[in-house]
Amino acid sequence: MDYRSTRDASHRVSALEAILRGIAPDGGLYVPASFPKLPPWDTLRGRSYQEVALQILRGYLEEVDPGFLKAAVDKAYGREKFQGEAPVMLKETGDAFFLELFHGPTLAFKDMALCLMPHLLGEAMERTAMKEEVVILTATSGDTGKAALEGFKDVPGVKVFVFYPEDGVSPIQKRQMVTQEGANTFVVALEGNFDDAQRGVKALFQDEALGADLKERGFSLSSANSINIGRLLPQIVYYVYGYLKLLEGGRIREGEEVTYTVPTGNFGNILAAHYAKSMGLPVKALYCASNANHVLTDFLATGVYTRDRPLVRTSSPSMDILVSSNLERYLHAVAGASREEWIRALMEDLNTKGTFQVSKALLQDMRGGFAGEAETAAAIRKVFEREGYAMDPHTAVAYAVNQKLRSPGDAGKHIIVATASPYKFPEKVLTSLGKESPADAFTGIRTLSKLLGEEPPTALERAFHLPVRHRDVIGKEGIKDAVLRILKGGNQHG
Ligand SMILES: *Cc1c(COP(=O)(O)O)cnc(C)c1O
Repeated sequence: MDYRSTRDASHRVSALEAILRGIAPDGGLYVPASFPKLPPWDTLRGRSYQEVALQILRGYLEEVDPGFLKAAVDKAYGREKFQGEAPVMLKETGDAFFLELFHGPTLAFKDMALCLMPHLLGEAMERTAMKEEVVILTATSGDTGKAALEGFKDVPGVKVFVFYPEDGVSPIQKRQMVTQEGANTFVVALEGNFDDAQRGVKALFQDEALGADLKERGFSLSSANSINIGRLLPQIVYYVYGYLKLLEGGRIREGEEVTYTVPTGNFGNILAAHYAKSMGLPVKALYCASNANHVLTDFLATGVYTRDRPLVRTSSPSMDILVSSNLERYLHAVAGASREEWIRALMEDLNTKGTFQVSKALLQDMRGGFAGEAETAAAIRKVFEREGYAMDPHTAVAYAVNQKLRSPGDAGKHIIVATASPYKFPEKVLTSLGKESPADAFTGIRTLSKLLGEEPPTALERAFHLPVRHRDVIGKEGIKDAVLRILKGGNQHG
């Protein structure tokens, strides 16, 4: 199995090389050359999450020793990292099933990939006898940053840099990042939004002079963002696992199609669903849920992508994104002949004109919808009052969109992808339930925990007891300088 750039089919690399590089030299994203077939359901029934993961991932990582992969998967999704009966749980509430992906160390779904990826990167470094130290550059809208920092903390031969929008993440997300431990972690606030951070990081990968300079100093760049295929492959697993749980519970027949609703920002999570479908998962439709930044809703409805619009700050900050990187992979997957040339032209249009257009006919398996702040709050309240189930704002956006898009008589099963723990966003959850706004995030966690009658997750509480270690703030064009300064040893951990 090899991987190719979305912008040049002749550029081919192995899976491990793709993970090591993060992004192709031409600026394109690595995609699998083909999709392995889903294993027969009989071989998956009754299996643990780890066993299902192993079966799915083997097809994408043929060059990785199966014994190594098994050990990596077991470590990634073991009890030490994930709390609860299983790393992923499917909960039925009313007319939907919530696929809970937030029981990992940072309480958001980014853990599903970032607990495994460091193992794969380590293997890649070893197999290529890499001499340079790997510098992982990460732009974050809140959750990727913390998950990457936890995943790569103190991994030998790796430094991890995270750039977050100074005013664009929630107080708890920020607290989690600035208290990050580990001698190889660097967290920097950017005076800009997530798109500025992502653009700045992507630009460094295409800066050949910088690459050569870093190589001379003994460093090589990679990425922990979902532009890295190593982020996407582990995400395919839980779509299959969710379906398997419905099968095992006798809620669907084998082959029965299911609809997934995915709260979407950078389009990585929903793309993994599309990949699962390409492997043979019976998917009826994929609902792409956006918040007030509904660039994807508009795109799916019209075929016109327009990034030039104001970015709105919402209570679902991990979806406050106007340039969704992984859309490029989706377009590549649904396009026909000469698609690399076509993608190059579209991305050129996006860069120079801020917009591109495709035929709506290509976008058949997805439907888009969005929910504003009031709708999100109403969804949180309705589901809590009727079912006693607390949704975080990202999950609530997905739920609200699911309610809008599904037809009243639809008897099919619906899986809502639950991407974060409500404890990560207590203020929005509490105020949506008609409670007073908590004095601060810490109080919010406590109040929510009392309301739900359960202990708050320990990982979150810990962030409030640790000292702040990262105070760097830079201008939005300052990423390159910051990287060079820190690598030259100019950064002191406080
Ligand atoms: C990152 C994130 C999303 C968006 O996922 P994409 O893969 O970027 O589309 C949604 N919800 C939460 C909680 C997230 O952290």
